[in-house]
Amino acid sequence: MKALPWSHSSLTGYKTCPKQYSEVKVYKNFKEEQGDAAAWGNYIHEQIELHFKTRNPLPDNMAPYWPQVQAAVEWTGGDRTHPGEPGYRGRLMMFEQKLALSTKLKRCDWFADDVWGRAILDMLVIDGTIAYACDWKTGKVKPDNKQLKLFALFVFYHFPYVTECHTSFEWLQHNKFTRETFYLTDVATLWGSFTTDLLELRDAFRSETWQERPSGLCNGWCPVDTCRHWKPKK
Ligand code: SF4
Repeated sequence: MKALPWSHSSLTGYKTCPKQYSEVKVYKNFKEEQGDAAAWGNYIHEQIELHFKTRNPLPDNMAPYWPQVQAAVEWTGGDRTHPGEPGYRGRLMMFEQKLALSTKLKRCDWFADDVWGRAILDMLVIDGTIAYACDWKTGKVKPDNKQLKLFALFVFYHFPYVTECHTSFEWLQHNKFTRETFYLTDVATLWGSFTTDLLELRDAFRSETWQERPSGLCNGWCPVDTCRHWKPKK
């Protein structure tokens, strides 16, 4: 069967349990319930995007997270100059920016027929040949730089004049960040971190073979209650 477009989260879901991924994402036999933490995270993302698009004040419940957002904006070069103002250098500042790559590794539309991979960048700043890609994180601090590598890859393909990409997880509830810089010359090495997983995913779609990968999720946290490993929550 034709493979679905992948993203960091769908690839992670596939690696966690191919069977669950297939039942939920591919065949849509089961639906994942959105937990309170995920709903809260979505709310925070929406409020930050809305603030930068409208410049309306943030709701009071965003106050604990705002210092880290401001620190990240400062890190990218600040938010004070706008088109037409003195000091404006043509920086592009984008929020919830959707970037997609085709099967031929070309930038493409999100819903293009040949779309292969997708990434959403919570805050993306392009300043000449330098880019900043930030991801707002609302959960526990889990430094896994694979997602940062993907941000850099998608930026390098979408903005071919960018030679240096600074990436960041902004841990909003912890006032911390994880930052890493990648260079255009790193592209081949960066893809190397994903080759095995992407080939495995491709083969799974080709053969429609989806392994069961039991874990703690089987104890009532997985929606696939027809799986032989599924058990109710204790
Ligand atoms: S019950 Fe466990 S093994 Fe079965 S699909 Fe769910 S996570 Fe995978």
